[in-house]
Amino acid sequence: MAVTEIPKLTDNIEALVSEINPDKCSGCGVCLPLCSYSAITWIEYKGKKRAHIDPALCTGCGVCVAACPSRAIILEGFTTEEIESQIENLTF
Ligand code: SF4
Ligand code: SF4
Repeated sequence: MAVTEIPKLTDNIEALVSEINPDKCSGCGVCLPLCSYSAITWIEYKGKKRAHIDPALCTGCGVCVAACPSRAIILEGFTTEEIESQIENLTF
């Protein structure tokens, strides 16, 4: 994706929050240390430990979305592939 398309994500960043589907979350814990805003915590769901995002703390940066091996996290309005592409572009 072209670098010139990055503002499409950042323009909307304040209005976006990520959300975890607890039925898809495996409880691997990969996402928790990656969140710079401590927005991800553990909850108990159907008797299992699952990650949960506090929408009040989440900035919608998309880092956890790209990192989740189970594709359990979504950022409203963006596919996982789009988020991965945006982050890749920001790091180069
Ligand atoms: S990285 Fe994905 S599967 Fe692992 S704890 Fe986080 S949401 Fe769950
Ligand atoms: S999108 Fe960013 S701020 Fe929100 S929970 Fe994921 S890593 Fe944290």
